[in-house]
Amino acid sequence: MSALPSQAYALLKTVFGYDSFRPGQEEVIESVLDGGPVLAVMPTGSGKSICYQLPALLDDGLTIVVSPLIALMRDQVQQLISLGVGAGSLNSSNTPHETDAVWSALKAGTLRLLFISPERLAMDGLQGALARAGVKRVAIDEAHCVSEWGHDFRPEYRQIRTAVEAMGVGQVIAFTATADRNTRRDIAERLFDRSPTVFVHSFDRPNLDLRFAPKDQPRKQIEAFLKSHREQSGIIYCASRDRTEKMAEWLQQSGIESVAYHAGMDAGQRARNQDRFLQEDGIVVAATIAFGMGINKPDVRFVVHADMPGSVEAYYQEIGRAGRDGLPAATLTLFGVEDMALRRRQIAEKQISEDRRRIEHARFGRLAMLCEAASCRRQVLLSYFDEQAPACGRCDICRGEVSLYDGTVDAQKALSAVYRTGQRFGASYLTDVLMGIESDSVVRNGHQTIKTFGVGADRPRNEWTGIIRQLFAADALETASEEHGGFKLSAKGEAILLGQESIQLRKDPPKAPKPARSKVGKGQDAPEGLDEDDTKLFNALRRKRLELAREEGVAAYVVFADRTLIELARERPLSLREMAGIYGIGTAKLERYGEAFLEVVLSGE
Ligand code: ADP
Ligand code: ZN
Repeated sequence: MSALPSQAYALLKTVFGYDSFRPGQEEVIESVLDGGPVLAVMPTGSGKSICYQLPALLDDGLTIVVSPLIALMRDQVQQLISLGVGAGSLNSSNTPHETDAVWSALKAGTLRLLFISPERLAMDGLQGALARAGVKRVAIDEAHCVSEWGHDFRPEYRQIRTAVEAMGVGQVIAFTATADRNTRRDIAERLFDRSPTVFVHSFDRPNLDLRFAPKDQPRKQIEAFLKSHREQSGIIYCASRDRTEKMAEWLQQSGIESVAYHAGMDAGQRARNQDRFLQEDGIVVAATIAFGMGINKPDVRFVVHADMPGSVEAYYQEIGRAGRDGLPAATLTLFGVEDMALRRRQIAEKQISEDRRRIEHARFGRLAMLCEAASCRRQVLLSYFDEQAPACGRCDICRGEVSLYDGTVDAQKALSAVYRTGQRFGASYLTDVLMGIESDSVVRNGHQTIKTFGVGADRPRNEWTGIIRQLFAADALETASEEHGGFKLSAKGEAILLGQESIQLRKDPPKAPKPARSKVGKGQDAPEGLDEDDTKLFNALRRKRLELAREEGVAAYVVFADRTLIELARERPLSLREMAGIYGIGTAKLERYGEAFLEVVLSGE
């Protein structure tokens, strides 16, 4: 392929320190350099930023990057400056001094990338000034914010196009990690004046382990999981503010460095906790979903959902914060009946149109299906994004951690209970009937007399609820009434009931998860491909990295990525020149950190 100028490959190496492009980057960059409108849908961590950063270095003129989050902007600008790239930002958190510096650089023509918040961009005065400075291209990050369809709608995004026109900018390029078809259409219509060239990159994140477990004893389950992730950075998502604090406290008591993060904390504390997570190695943050958008930390080694996420998109985004450096990372999602009931109730209580409510219920149903899946998780996940894939071999189902059995007879009992009670009741009522419990409402409806009453008395309640959830997940049951969570039979459910089809079900409770070894970042264990000596050196390099990061007040990964340290430990370069061949070491980083790390390598540890 490669119709990119050779300079592009040279810059990739000398500025960013990378040997090759990641899948998808080359074609997007090629299209950006062609000058036309471009929309690239690429999953989190696939390396979208390079797709606008590299073109900004290759041609003359200024690239404006519209970005919704100030934290994200600061982070990117900081990283670019550390790479020796002329970058700056204009947003409400700037000091007057910072803003002055940006304008001087603009006038001097030394600025390649200017990050602006959408609110700022909407200001008339600013548009005029930027038009005079000359803007070659506008890159819009998190482009889905323009669509009401997505979760993160930002009205200011609707004004970007006016601003682009006012500034007389010739090219608009847009990037997002979440876009189903409707959102994509919305983005194309609202951000561009003509149809963009669209790239949709695979949503597969092969380096992520996918694992789900019914919530049984959550603390025990999380404890078992964390055992194989000692001293690694990770995120534990919880459903409420209160739970994040309890979780962090419990982790701390269990000897795991951790902090809480949620929108209800005072701003100072919140920022301090976020900084610790970003800058120190091996901190676990217990957080609500308020945490993460714009967190650019590449070496997060695991994401746990202690409570069920809100939707498949949310799940995908949240697990996507792990393993952005491409190294193995683990995920675990706990789901329970209470979680499901809670989410359904939240949707029912929202002040939204009935259409919207239906969409949200259907969306949630897809997540339930993923949690209860009895076939490859990755296949189910990718099918949500209209992608087909072979069985992945590295999710809990593929690894055989979940035991399945021929559940046809159990399924028939449950389906029969649904059918004979009139196809309108929810899981807890159906369970009463199956177990033969004469609750008030069962008696009121006369359902203690039907044939199915009590046929499941040999099984505990949680198993029946599990079976009903699985039938729903497998599409054998459909929702009868969205608000009340009642079920009716689908065509597939009828076929199972009539004995025309069989079904595999999961045994509850499943075997305790056997977390796969995700090796990087542990103090004691060897990172992938490193022997004992290399591991010692790797740990010494980590200490040096932390020391330098502290001195400069930046995150550890701003200094060097884990992968850089692993390669340094393995390759043991003997000179600065040899060092320049290592992953992630470009000219600027070599100058800045080369000596310090070389010393560690040479001292041999
Ligand atoms: P996102 O698509 O989520 O915006 P980023 O642009 O932040 O992803 O990139 C994710 C990580 O991948 C970053 O740490 C980045 O430096 C790294 N990366 C991007 N492109 C490459 C590449 N060609 N080779 C190696 N690492 C890369
Ligand atoms: Zn799989």
